[in-house]
Amino acid sequence: MKVCKFGGSSLANATQVNKVVDIVLSDPARRIVVVSAPGKRHSGDTKVTDLLIALAETALKGENTDRQFGAVVERYAEMASELKLGDDIVHRIEADLSERLAQATSLRPEEFLDLMKAAGEDNNAKLVAVAFEARGRKARYASPKDTGMVLRGRFGDAELDPDSYAWLSRAFSNFEGIVIYPGFFGYTREGKVATFPRGGSDITGSILAAAVCADVYENFTDVDSVYPCDPRIVEEVKEGEGIPTMTYREMRELAYAGFGVFNDDAVIPAVKARIPINIRNTNHPSEPGTMIQQSRRVVPGTVVGIASADGFCNIVVEKYLMNREIGFGRRLLQVLEDAGISYEHTPSGVDSQCVVVKEQFLPKDREHKIMQDIREKLDPDFVTVERDLTMLMVVGEGMCYTPGMLAKACLALASVGISVSMVNQGSSEVSFMIAIRSKDRDLAVRSLYKAFFG
Ligand code: ASP
Repeated sequence: MKVCKFGGSSLANATQVNKVVDIVLSDPARRIVVVSAPGKRHSGDTKVTDLLIALAETALKGENTDRQFGAVVERYAEMASELKLGDDIVHRIEADLSERLAQATSLRPEEFLDLMKAAGEDNNAKLVAVAFEARGRKARYASPKDTGMVLRGRFGDAELDPDSYAWLSRAFSNFEGIVIYPGFFGYTREGKVATFPRGGSDITGSILAAAVCADVYENFTDVDSVYPCDPRIVEEVKEGEGIPTMTYREMRELAYAGFGVFNDDAVIPAVKARIPINIRNTNHPSEPGTMIQQSRRVVPGTVVGIASADGFCNIVVEKYLMNREIGFGRRLLQVLEDAGISYEHTPSGVDSQCVVVKEQFLPKDREHKIMQDIREKLDPDFVTVERDLTMLMVVGEGMCYTPGMLAKACLALASVGISVSMVNQGSSEVSFMIAIRSKDRDLAVRSLYKAFFG
């Protein structure tokens, strides 16, 4: 059985909904269909979730909500009319929204906001189920409440209550036909609607795939596959082949350094359950997309992708005979821990220790105090912060045990005059990281692409 998730752009209008119906009906294994709220129809458009947030905020201020209410209903009404679904579904959606709005004063603001946000997915799932019927095929809407999608934690940033797996799996044992399931939200044990973080329909899909032990979790989006590097930086990559398969480890490394196609947090349930994840394009369903799985056949010496992420800085600490000083590293990291700053990497030399952190966690106005604490606690000879760094990440299981991969990357960078600020390679050998000045980022990615894929 396959669990498929369709994002907002895949369900933005009637044409897209028809594509989704076609895709689902073309494969009898596609039995659980997770839907997002309708997304943008064009670049200047607004997602239904954002319209709902605007509606909720207006209601919370006690102002007139007619305009925002109309804007949400209009999105569904337009789809229903183009799909010839009749008025009934639109009236049901209107009634549902009114019922939710009526709770603006009885719920806490964060609870009300989640109740309203969830309306986007919930009503879209109902509409998509009717769209199947209009095409002469039965599909049943399933409610997160009835199936046991129980969430906990903060509203707007909730997480799954682990007991839900058993409830969900029971709810889906021996079910028949096609089920349309709204993404992005669930219910607390107290029965309140709670949402995952934004983009959370991916989480719902991944949870359901794990709960029913799906053969594959298909995540339909608007790209043919995951590309080996950012097509906005390396244009020729679009014409070339996308990545056919990659491992979970490779995905994680690439996502870390900014591969935006997938959200590595969202797929955790599927990864833990070892469910293969297939990234596919709703607009080109014949493309096989990218399969992400536990293992794959690798060709030694090959790379799967090159990622780059800006916004890093490097705290450089030097002290003569540092290597003999017990506890130096711990005390350095303690300064950051005390300041509530999470660190990324700690490359070191004999008498130097660097700590790479995201610049957002070490803004200029905090730097002075951190430097002062490091001087006080470690008495270094020298300490500084290098800013504007980009992490280049070269990833591939095929790099394991292959000599010369790092040399090839450094040579490529040297050939275009880019100096390397730091190199970091974990013992897994599935990736290495090179820090460079951010101004050199595009040139660096292009030269690495040429070296490994050209
Ligand atoms: N509709 C929600 C959002 O826009 C969730 C999702 O699309 O996955 O964030």
